[in-house]
Amino acid sequence: MSISSALAVSLVNVSCIFGTGMQAVHAVRGVSLDIKPGEFFTLLGPSGSGKTTCLRMIGGFTLPTSGVIVIDGDDVSQLPPHLRPVNTVFQDYALFPHMTVVQNVAFALRVRGVNARTQKKRAMELLDTMQLAHTAERKPAELSGGQRQRVALARALIGEPKVLLLDEPLGALDLKLREQMQYELKSLQRKLGITFIFVTHDQHEALSMSDRVGVFNHGRLEQVADPQSIYEMPKTIFVANFIGAANVLSGDVAKNLFDLPCAMLRPERIVLSASGTGRLQGKVQETQYFGTHWRVSCISQGTTLVADIAVASGQNCPKPGDEVGLDWSAQAVHPLAENAVPAQSFCSI
Ligand code: ADP
Ligand code: MG
Repeated sequence: MSISSALAVSLVNVSCIFGTGMQAVHAVRGVSLDIKPGEFFTLLGPSGSGKTTCLRMIGGFTLPTSGVIVIDGDDVSQLPPHLRPVNTVFQDYALFPHMTVVQNVAFALRVRGVNARTQKKRAMELLDTMQLAHTAERKPAELSGGQRQRVALARALIGEPKVLLLDEPLGALDLKLREQMQYELKSLQRKLGITFIFVTHDQHEALSMSDRVGVFNHGRLEQVADPQSIYEMPKTIFVANFIGAANVLSGDVAKNLFDLPCAMLRPERIVLSASGTGRLQGKVQETQYFGTHWRVSCISQGTTLVADIAVASGQNCPKPGDEVGLDWSAQAVHPLAENAVPAQSFCSI
């Protein structure tokens, strides 16, 4: 069946339930999603929110309990992985330890019966792109974590998939290498123009790499938008708290401060000044230094509010116990839909 080829991947009301009866786990609940060709799309959410299950259903490793999955215009919902135009990079890379790097990369071509010379030529070209040509004759155990990561990528890319699925591919790397690989992965994706569907629980990774982000919570997609909209205009309390630091206020506090039932104010949007100025008076409880900014937590009328001071601003950071004024512009307040969760006042960092 051919549906719309303008979409790389389309999920229509897809659900996945593991087990039955009392043991049933609703891993993915009614997810509908359109991913465009060439898009870098990230599934973001906490552990257990259904990201991997969703990715496995796109790859064909798990079949949906209900719903339809369309890839490049074809309904692939019931097809096995090898009949889908996608490839997957798993978190543990799953390289063949007994094969050399070039043999690992060429593997998909060997399985397809491509002749040995072409196999090697294509594998070497790809290794060159990944700046790995010098490691071609090594075994995976003789590589660093970052190199193994790139070999896994090259191996997944050699079959020229229309869509590449990546499940927390940078999870095993230390922070510095992880940041470098985030940059490299993003530029590689731009260069190749292949659709990437990337899974992470790391909000910074999601915001910095993606064209669009889908935020998962308990198997549902709470919001799909570009990174800036996700950060500045979260739709739900969950998204506001999961992405970055947020002062989320509801009830009487929100009514008094913002005249809204529920709202979010990001810490960097609060201006701290000398006591007696600003909309609100507060007392500093704690300060933390983050290199680029100070994070100051203040208590005002029984409510904790967190404010950031950019170090580059040259403004002095107040000390615990100091009285301060807190101010913000009306545009800094983002209304949130009130939901059943009693979010009196909290800040997630
Ligand atoms: P994430 O990748 O966001 O951490 P998963 O998709 O792995 O989340 O898991 C979503 C939920 O489904 C979790 O509660 C998990 O325990 C459950 N789950 C995942 N795979 C299976 C499985 N094969 N059998 C039973 N439950 C599973
Ligand atoms: Mg997972």
